[in-house]
Amino acid sequence: MDWEIVIGLETHAQLSTVSKIFSGASTRFGAAPNTQASAIDLALPGVLPVLNRGAVERAICFGLAIDAKIASHSVFARKNYFYPDLPKGYQISQYDMPIVEHGNLTIQVSQTSSDDKNQPHDYEKTIHILRAHLEEDAGKLLHEEFAGMTGVDLNRAGTPLLEIVTDPDMRSAAEAVAYAKALHTLVVWLGICDGNMQEGSFRCDANVSVRPVGQKELGTRTEIKNLNSFRFLDEAIRYEARRQIRLIEEGGRVTQETRLYDPNRRETRSMRSKEDAHDYRYFSDPDLLPLVVSPDWIEQVRSTLPELPAAMSERFINVYELSSYDAHQLTTSKTLADYYEAAVKKMGTQHAKALANWMTGELAAQLKRHELTIEACPVTPAQLARLLMHIVNGSISNKIAKEVFQAIWDEKALDEEAADRIIDAQGLQQISGVGELEAIIDQVLAANLKSVEEFRAGKQKAFNALVGQVMKATRGKANPQQVNACLQQKLDEEKSV
Ligand code: ADP
Ligand code: MG
Repeated sequence: MDWEIVIGLETHAQLSTVSKIFSGASTRFGAAPNTQASAIDLALPGVLPVLNRGAVERAICFGLAIDAKIASHSVFARKNYFYPDLPKGYQISQYDMPIVEHGNLTIQVSQTSSDDKNQPHDYEKTIHILRAHLEEDAGKLLHEEFAGMTGVDLNRAGTPLLEIVTDPDMRSAAEAVAYAKALHTLVVWLGICDGNMQEGSFRCDANVSVRPVGQKELGTRTEIKNLNSFRFLDEAIRYEARRQIRLIEEGGRVTQETRLYDPNRRETRSMRSKEDAHDYRYFSDPDLLPLVVSPDWIEQVRSTLPELPAAMSERFINVYELSSYDAHQLTTSKTLADYYEAAVKKMGTQHAKALANWMTGELAAQLKRHELTIEACPVTPAQLARLLMHIVNGSISNKIAKEVFQAIWDEKALDEEAADRIIDAQGLQQISGVGELEAIIDQVLAANLKSVEEFRAGKQKAFNALVGQVMKATRGKANPQQVNACLQQKLDEEKSV
């Protein structure tokens, strides 16, 4: 039987406010345990929460960016449950009246894997975001530091979160990862979340079910909690879908439950049976007024929105004539997009495509090798532009450009003219004078009589070997096409002598 995988994601994005959602305590990561949990975060008797305006503004900002409805009136509710990281006994969240509803996020899916054979290789899809609501985070249990005991650190209690919930719109792990990446790009781009996944600032719960292809009703889902890397998200969904399919094919049934992903064993494990909403005994928090958002406030936030990734990508396609793939790659972060545009300014729009190729190729590969993001790139846009202009006007080859790029990178050069300086100092200008090249070719032919003979005997390989020798003798500074042409001419001439 053919199976269809169905996925809905719930993502917790930590909002980048300086203080907590209902208290003045700091949200800074990494402080000594329990130094940043105030009486309000713990709901000690007699305290009252006060809503952080900055958290609300960030939620509105997100809602506008996904073209959602911003509720003029939303309500905070108490979600009651017991857990040692939540000594207050309830979490303040939004339930039936969230601040953001019904938005959309368009994703680019590149299908590299063998599943989903019926999907084309690259495609766009729009995911419906059902809701995004404000809530507070809980504390953290520490298991590793204390042998045989568990520590409780309540610093994170009361940290503002935006929980972003999709419809069950995704049909493969690749789509879920593409959605998570697009969402991550967006919240970081908007400046409402630092996006640091290792520190837990952006984490996903994946709801996964399977159904026979063609069936309308959804299958029973399981929910895999707290996936804090794109790789884990991908692996967990693939594993869980396989597990469910096998289970059903063997005559079993999927039970609705919460599961954990163990990256070391690459499997999901049952954590607890799934609670229903009524188990939480939600009720409006009597300590907080309903949240009223005026049209003026919405417009004021709208006026601060930057150009969004999708719009910028569209503009790169139209103005710089980039492929949609390149445009998408260059708008995966605002810093990267700004870097690109700063370099385009220096080089001129006519070279925008060459720059895009270099950035998605050599620069991206180099950053990956060093496990860096563009923020930490030691080569500035101006330095890169200067270097690439040398390729464009033919004074160095692409190969030499890579060496110069490496040199600028290694010496953490500060001067904008670093490329000029290094090319001059090392004499790397491309050999373009025909005389100079001919002299080198003559030497190479004289030193490689055997290859010349073989070429005469009709071996094409021998010609390629000679090209290689000439390139070596010029230390890569010759233009390969010119070497080819010039060598061919020389060999023809000699033949006719
Ligand atoms: P909760 O997890 O709080 O019970 P919901 O029932 O609203 O909340 O569902 C949460 C998430 O699960 C949503 O992202 C939704 O799209 C997804 N979901 C619901 N049913 C299924 C299903 N059968 N298969 C996959 N995902 C589902
Ligand atoms: Mg859930």
